[in-house]
Amino acid sequence: MMTAHDPLLAGGTAADQRPHAIVIGAGFGGLAAAVRLGARGYRVTVLEKLDQPGGRASQFRQDGFTFDAGPTIITAPFIFEELWELCGRKLSDDVSLVSLDPFYTVRFDDGREFRASANDAAMEAEIAKFSPDDVAGYRSYLLESERCFKAGFLGMIDKSYASIGSMVRALPDLVMRRADRSVYKLVSKYIRNEQLRQALSFHPLFIGGNPMRSSGVLSLISYLEREYGVHYAKGGTHSLVQGIVKLIAGQGGKIRTGAEVGQITVHNGRATGVRLENGETIPAAVVVSNADAGWTYSKLLGNHPRKRWTDRKIARAKYSMSLFVWYFGINRRYEDVPHHTVMMGPRFAGLLHDIFDAKHLAEDFSLYLYRPSASDASMAPEGCDSFYVLAPVPNLDGETDWESMAEPYRRRIEAHLSATVLPGFEDHVVTSKVMTPADFRDRLLSLKGAAFGIEPVITQLAWFRPHNASEEVENLFLVGAGTHPGAGLPGVVSSAKILDKVVPHASTVN
Ligand SMILES: Cc1cc2nc3c(=O)[nH]c(=O)nc-3n(C[C@H](O)[C@H](O)[C@H](O)COP(=O)(O)OP(=O)(O)OC[C@H]3O[C@@H](n4cnc5c(N)ncnc54)[C@H](O)[C@@H]3O)c2cc1C
Repeated sequence: MMTAHDPLLAGGTAADQRPHAIVIGAGFGGLAAAVRLGARGYRVTVLEKLDQPGGRASQFRQDGFTFDAGPTIITAPFIFEELWELCGRKLSDDVSLVSLDPFYTVRFDDGREFRASANDAAMEAEIAKFSPDDVAGYRSYLLESERCFKAGFLGMIDKSYASIGSMVRALPDLVMRRADRSVYKLVSKYIRNEQLRQALSFHPLFIGGNPMRSSGVLSLISYLEREYGVHYAKGGTHSLVQGIVKLIAGQGGKIRTGAEVGQITVHNGRATGVRLENGETIPAAVVVSNADAGWTYSKLLGNHPRKRWTDRKIARAKYSMSLFVWYFGINRRYEDVPHHTVMMGPRFAGLLHDIFDAKHLAEDFSLYLYRPSASDASMAPEGCDSFYVLAPVPNLDGETDWESMAEPYRRRIEAHLSATVLPGFEDHVVTSKVMTPADFRDRLLSLKGAAFGIEPVITQLAWFRPHNASEEVENLFLVGAGTHPGAGLPGVVSSAKILDKVVPHASTVN
């Protein structure tokens, strides 16, 4: 874990004459942006409000246990590899990625389990275990998923959509055809068994989307997992953060933690730098914001008039769900609990409706249980297990008072885990911490406490998202979950790649 005093966070010298670029926020999007800008000749300063880089991917240690605060499932490692290549290095020089197989277990409320893996024969056996009649449909579904991957991932993820015309021209037919059909509907076209439909369609939740209305193109995740694997970074996801921080230091870039930006300074319609909450002003040739996109426009641009992202439009946008996360360490081990378990609740469509539409905190829940100590002894003291369990919950447009609900909700989850996969564990909990939607709002400055920014629905994708080159102010650029292409590690790291297309090379800046 990195602290404000870590030598890797210092860097850059006063004699450095390269044009200055500021990145607001050290999430994965901001850190990847810093590497891209450094590789294009800028002297980069990343300004981070919190006491460590990583944003949602921060890490904390408590009572001898190590906890990844956020992302745990690493897909598409080639997207990270590119950052290391830009610095003349290899990802494996700094980070030890381990591929997991099986990827994860989906456990249904009736106790049945589906193990997803890269092995075709094993996957077909799992499908047949639930429904032999669905094996042929599964094969066809995989082909559809591959087509979606080629068009929707390779074809779109790192493209800039500055005009609606550019989006329409770029959108391949396939995307247009699949865009109106949800992931769940697309899977249902091929698969009849309801539990298999859920196991193959829940993935949009990883990026803040509702499987019942996220574009069918997101079925590409099945192919992405199968082709490129599901990985774990030894030491936790934060070791990837530390690796990128090292790249930035190697480029002579600088990361300042505990530095909250209060305003982006603008002169004649052009971003000129930032003003910190402590009053310090820092000029820059280029400003990139990795802060929440809605926050960037509604709070950081002060009174600068906005044509597109007005307060009204920001307030009326659809935001992703939030998350309730309980991190806990226990003084015993549950060897048969895998690294990743998705625990489906008794309802699928109904629960999603409660979370995304009714914004009502339901009595039931679906959970994701993370046990990194299954694969990495460094995450917990000897003989112990470190866990987090998360539940998708309504964002703060709902009326849940998390101050009073956090503990009763945690207890409900505890009782459920004890009754299912972790019998008797509650007597062994030795360390505990929760994160609620209020933390997303107050700590990470996310509008409505949304865990994944603006929801990925068809009317809020590509050109319809906040653009990577700001529509409001020249010389301001946006990266991260709230902008194009969207949330999730592959998405936010790709948003930084788009900077190569829209930010002028430092050699052309005076
Ligand atoms: C619990 C959880 C589990 C997840 N699991 C996965 C997963 O398994 N796989 C996956 O791919 N994705 C996962 N995600 C999604 C993924 O973590 C996020 O989409 C991604 O990390 C967001 O990156 P970002 O670049 O948008 O920045 P963020 O992580 O949102 O960071 C933005 C940073 O900007 C800082 N900031 C904001 N405003 C200011 C300001 N005014 N001044 C200075 N700094 C500021 C914040 O403090 C923060 O550090 C998960 C998310 C969560 C919350």
